[in-house]
Amino acid sequence: MSAQVLNVEGLHAGYRGVEVLRDISFSVAEGEVVALLGPNGAGKTTSLLTFAGVIRPSRGAVRVLGFPSERQSTHLLAQRGMVFVPEDRGLFGQLSVADTLRLAQRSRVRETDEVMDLLPALRPLWRRKVALLSGGEQQMVALAAALVRRPRLLLLDEMSLGLAPQVVSELLAAVRRMADQDGTGVLLVEQHARVALAASDRAIVLRHGEVALEGCAEDVSSQLHVVESSYLGESGNLA
Ligand code: ATP
Repeated sequence: MSAQVLNVEGLHAGYRGVEVLRDISFSVAEGEVVALLGPNGAGKTTSLLTFAGVIRPSRGAVRVLGFPSERQSTHLLAQRGMVFVPEDRGLFGQLSVADTLRLAQRSRVRETDEVMDLLPALRPLWRRKVALLSGGEQQMVALAAALVRRPRLLLLDEMSLGLAPQVVSELLAAVRRMADQDGTGVLLVEQHARVALAASDRAIVLRHGEVALEGCAEDVSSQLHVVESSYLGESGNLA
């Protein structure tokens, strides 16, 4: 059995006494892509922030790369091989694509040429300033900056925000290739379930901070309509 890069057990967490996540348990193994799905406000971003050590759990345990995340700083988890790509992509607009990747590459774990092989559409943008790129191109740069660090655990928040489904599919295909090639474990937060499921091995659907559905990507895909119908009247879009 592959080693677990993320293990969550009976997790409760939230903000200043407001409990958002209730009794969440699941794991991500090396080389596995797991989608964390759910409508707006279900607790997806809160989950990622808790796994990355930014929010302390009120109950339960999170282990990142074998270490309890609540006792490690986010910085230390990053040194051990965790990379977190936030929803706002964490880019500096005034830097060029080349400089962004050089900065991310301080530990020089992967040559930028290899990243270009995973994301070939980045090549012609090399000298351009990040701020001048389209949303899809910027997301590609954020992903490339993560890939250059050859993560063992990659936490990806809502890559699809404002992007065309075709662009998201291409980005997710690169994520899938990296998981297969390097054995990176990926937890990928998405509101657009169908696109995410196509690139994932397994999925967890959150609803009101609890696990509403969990299983292999095909099973979750076939049962999604049941969960979706329970979202009617909510703001979520699981299409
Ligand atoms: P979205 O797709 O809209 O980002 P999400 O599934 O990522 O949704 P979260 O952002 O984790 O959901 O929010 C879960 C709940 O936590 C929501 O009810 C939200 O209002 C609440 N919440 C989020 N951030 C904070 C905060 N800083 N302080 C208090 N409550 C918060």
